[in-house]
Amino acid sequence: MIKTAKLIAGNWKMNGLAANLGELEALRVALAEAPLACRVALCPPATLIERMAVTGDISAAMLKDAGATLVILGHSERRQGHGETDAGVASKAEAALAAGLAPIICVGETPEQREAGQAVEVVRSQIMASLPLALVGRAFAVAYEPVWAIGTGLTPTLEQIEEVHRAVRAAMIERLGLGVAASPILYGGSVKPENAREILAVAEVGGALVGGASLKAADFLGIIREA
Ligand code: PEP
Repeated sequence: MIKTAKLIAGNWKMNGLAANLGELEALRVALAEAPLACRVALCPPATLIERMAVTGDISAAMLKDAGATLVILGHSERRQGHGETDAGVASKAEAALAAGLAPIICVGETPEQREAGQAVEVVRSQIMASLPLALVGRAFAVAYEPVWAIGTGLTPTLEQIEEVHRAVRAAMIERLGLGVAASPILYGGSVKPENAREILAVAEVGGALVGGASLKAADFLGIIREA
């Protein structure tokens, strides 16, 4: 594995009002104080991008125009609640690349699939079908997010995280070639300041995708400081 700076990405999902922008300011001030060992990204809801509300979806070009540099695709809540398929995720990734955005593509097994011992197989198949070939030579990341760990306070064991991350890396190489060695694989699912250090130290964990704990600057900073 190539050693690159860890990426800690906050995912506000359908959270965040103007009143919460103070958290962003607190983060900005705290992060400006000392040089960082990691890269930090925060993905806000659409209404906070340029404080603009729209009635429909937002295109990759609009996100780029609003100043975004990366975009989260294939989150399990989009796959489950909005019927996003692997093929749909792949075509959104192509659109993101065409607009100059770096995609973070999410994969992860359901509790039933984990119970049935299918986690590695499910994630491998998501990688093969959700990562377009256009990713070759481009900046992107994959996030392994077990569905049962998102927002539940539950996390896989460190051994389980390593097993899936190694399988994700192997599938990425199979799909896109050896050039993907520098593309990080983030772990996501109930990451908090208390467990960030041990999770971020697992082999092939190249960062974290953080939901709930990214909403408060103090919690998110606690994770960033462990990277
Ligand atoms: C997420 O929604 O991507 C996520 C990882 O959420 P949480 O950190 O709250 O589990």
